[in-house]
Amino acid sequence: MTDTLSTDVVIIGAGIAGLWLHHRLNKMGFHALLLENKAIGNAQTLSSQGIIHGGAKYALNGILSKATQAIGDMPARWQSCLDGQGDVDLSSVKVLASHQLMWSKEQLSSKMLSFFASKALASRMQPVSDSARPPLFQHVGFKGVLYQLDEPVLEVTSVLKSLAKPYRDRILHCPPEQPVSWQQDGKHVTAMQIGDVTIKAQHFVLTAGEGNEALLNSLNIKKPAMQRRPLQMVLCKSKDPKQTLPAIYAHSLGSGSKPIATITSHADKNDNIVWYIGGNIAENGVGKSIDILIVEARALLSEIMPWYPLPELEWAVHAVDRAEPKQSNLTRPDTAFVKSRENVHIAWPTKLALAPDLADKVITQLQNQGLRKQPHADQVLLTPAPFGQPLWDHAFQ
Ligand SMILES: Cc1cc2nc3c(=O)[nH]c(=O)nc-3n(C[C@H](O)[C@H](O)[C@H](O)COP(=O)(O)OP(=O)(O)OC[C@H]3O[C@@H](n4cnc5c(N)ncnc54)[C@H](O)[C@@H]3O)c2cc1C
Repeated sequence: MTDTLSTDVVIIGAGIAGLWLHHRLNKMGFHALLLENKAIGNAQTLSSQGIIHGGAKYALNGILSKATQAIGDMPARWQSCLDGQGDVDLSSVKVLASHQLMWSKEQLSSKMLSFFASKALASRMQPVSDSARPPLFQHVGFKGVLYQLDEPVLEVTSVLKSLAKPYRDRILHCPPEQPVSWQQDGKHVTAMQIGDVTIKAQHFVLTAGEGNEALLNSLNIKKPAMQRRPLQMVLCKSKDPKQTLPAIYAHSLGSGSKPIATITSHADKNDNIVWYIGGNIAENGVGKSIDILIVEARALLSEIMPWYPLPELEWAVHAVDRAEPKQSNLTRPDTAFVKSRENVHIAWPTKLALAPDLADKVITQLQNQGLRKQPHADQVLLTPAPFGQPLWDHAFQ
């Protein structure tokens, strides 16, 4: 005996990609169900730094790359949602910083300075005057340059809650121990079965991040294939909450074409500020022991902000894979990715910031394939998916 649900679109995986698409489709009057096998945001999304990139960090080699151009519209797109005027309402999202900063300990070369001042980049980044610097950079020991990027940093938990809220009863939990199988008519998928529940739909969208790989295997779809790009992020906070770290949201520039470190700041449940450190250290830290990584991170902080006396710190590391469509040489894809196999659509946003772009692409594809609004009853056969916990509240345990 099975119980049957019906919907227009099934979306599998409630990270930023699935949630944004689910919200858009339901708002447009379609009936879309979002399925999550662990917790909302659980994987890459709650591991992210929450930066709505505008592409400036991809231009550090002095070239306006394809990635810089593809992502350039995203901060404005998100800003209209934060203002309550976009295609999703993010007006209750907590903005941690309205601008990401970028600093260099040394003066920059004149070639780099004129590139940053060029027409293409001047709208995305501006030098910060001495008087407008945040306290950490007002110290006499800071002798470098500071830029302000047109890139807000958001509290990701509040983004997830805003996206989920209006259609919460259509975000369902499918526990990982429940077997999943597919009903197909040739290559056309007619339904999926989760334990005793069958879900019929016109279309199925895979937004399961790393989980897309197993779903593609279960559907016997060989292409597109997935790649993982691993990271070991580093976290630290003051041992004494009364001497908490200052909140900074900044890329630290060295001489290379990537930031040496990207630091964002997040309050844990005791309001102690956690520095979440990515960039080179997280890419090069893969496979290193926690102890070695912590020694390196401590040395890095002293190197990039030598004027700041660090308080006694508590450390943690967080290993996580970025899941993306396979590229040659394991390079970073530049844009949001969607590929359709009949009525199965495989999607990876490749960046949190590109979730709106991904939703546009999937919706265009669904409409091109004749997606229709049909009546469906909201039956309670699966429980609502729970929300994942912020990293800062469990990484140090
Ligand atoms: C450390 C780190 C920092 C980052 N920082 C930034 C940043 O600052 N700015 C930015 O733009 N991008 C950033 N990114 C990239 C960004 O986080 C990801 O591109 C984005 O979150 C991917 O979202 P997603 O919804 O595709 O996948 P995920 O967030 O991984 O979500 C997939 C969901 O699917 C669920 N799932 C898996 N399998 C199944 C299944 N079989 N059935 C049901 N559910 C399933 C998972 O539990 C999970 O909830 C960062 C990434 C990392 C790793």
